Amino acid sequence: MSLAPPSTVVLDSRFARELPEMAVPWRGEAAPEPRLLALDEELAAELGLDPDWLRSPDGLALLLGLEVPDGAQPVAQAYSGHQFGGYSPRLGDGRALLLGELVDADGSVRDLHLKGSGRTPFSRGGDGLAAVGPMLRELVVSRGLHALGIPTTRALAVVATGRAVRRETPLPGAVLARVAASHLRVGSFQYARATGDLDLLRRLADHAIDRHHPAASAADNPCLALLDAVVAVQASLVARWMLVGFVHGVMNTDNTTISGETIDYGPCAFLDAFDPATVYSSIDSGGRYAYGNQPAVAEWNLARLAEALLPLLHEDQEQAVALATRSLETFRPRYEAAYASGAGAKLGLPDDLDDEVLVPLVADLMDLLTRARPDHTLFFRALAPAARGDGAPVHELVADAAALDGWLARWLDLEPDAAAMDRVNPLYIPRNHLVEEALAAATDGDLSPLERLLEAVDAPYDERPGLERYAAAAPEDFGAYRTFCGT
Ligand code: AMP
Ligand code: MG
Repeated sequence: MSLAPPSTVVLDSRFARELPEMAVPWRGEAAPEPRLLALDEELAAELGLDPDWLRSPDGLALLLGLEVPDGAQPVAQAYSGHQFGGYSPRLGDGRALLLGELVDADGSVRDLHLKGSGRTPFSRGGDGLAAVGPMLRELVVSRGLHALGIPTTRALAVVATGRAVRRETPLPGAVLARVAASHLRVGSFQYARATGDLDLLRRLADHAIDRHHPAASAADNPCLALLDAVVAVQASLVARWMLVGFVHGVMNTDNTTISGETIDYGPCAFLDAFDPATVYSSIDSGGRYAYGNQPAVAEWNLARLAEALLPLLHEDQEQAVALATRSLETFRPRYEAAYASGAGAKLGLPDDLDDEVLVPLVADLMDLLTRARPDHTLFFRALAPAARGDGAPVHELVADAAALDGWLARWLDLEPDAAAMDRVNPLYIPRNHLVEEALAAATDGDLSPLERLLEAVDAPYDERPGLERYAAAAPEDFGAYRTFCGT
């Protein structure tokens, strides 16, 4: 395939230039029969990329990492990571490539990155490949989070390669092209720290500050301000996940971004029945990444970031530890404040409601939900009718009518705004049974269920006729849901 990309595609390689110790120049693996399965045209436009060109053979060559514009330098990025609590000093992009950075229509720098693009020096025993199902899964779930206003990497396209990928059974292979504020992770800092090269660690911190938290550069202690900023964005991110019932499933430190975006959709899922102990990942046998553990795990991951940054926080180690500890101690209050404020909005309550009223009301609701286990999304959506005087929908979801009525009375006393609730409580999310249905059909070559699901989740709050099944709970026979990692 020859490439003549339009002159508008400009890919910088700033990460590779500033941090060469963490970047291995690499190319994607050839695909026998490339075929575009999905393209986010709105995102393409945001990036200044012509969707028609992306569909052309030259566009597909870019989306597979086979050919890149002059001057671009695709690389596999090095990082470390704690996986399920165990430290791996050398992970890195074992099946991914950073193609480069582009400047979007708003002037922001964004990474263009591939997943499933073939083996790299970081592949260890893996084949470097990805199957159609899991790549479309990342596409649909990240699209759902984006539509809910939650910071996330975005899926630009999924291209089927025409190559079979060997898993338990042979599966059709695919490459995902995704866009992120960057792919810097807690694990990137762990890697730089572990090299013992303080200059590299400092360059990485400067790079992160410049790309994500520029205000930190003006602080007395810029690296401490960077840590504070990452603590803040992660506290806010995890609160947003909790408010919509999102379970990431594999919150390893290499899957925790410095930007505060959700990254690496593996065994993720949305809660059906509300239960803090919910785990979907087949490999998370200890429940480390259960729904209710996510705030604690995020805090643990940030402590690993703080450790990596210690030599930059203060030359005296004791003082560095004291500064890091103080920064980490802001996580809980930030998280609690973000969660309470988001829960207040879900309940249609005014911003300035006294915390002494809001916090116990929310805590008692969580107790009620934990006991009654209603569908998380349906429950919050059914509260707006209750605010309008129709308690039947919410009563259908909670068997203990007396407990529910007691809580509803306290809440209704605060005069919730039902219209505001309908603007923040989604009706359509990428429900597990719908995602599975769409991926199974796509794997067999039928993309229409995926396209319909995307249409529903793209406008999560607007009830539309004909989409009833996208708002309904999983059928009884859907059973205990399991998702699979490393796929
Ligand atoms: P993930 O679970 O996708 O966050 O990946 C964790 C680590 O395993 C990263 O270093 C990946 O690059 C690597 N990895 C996952 N799947 C594969 C694969 N099929 N081939 C090579 N490396 C992989
Ligand atoms: Mg990962």
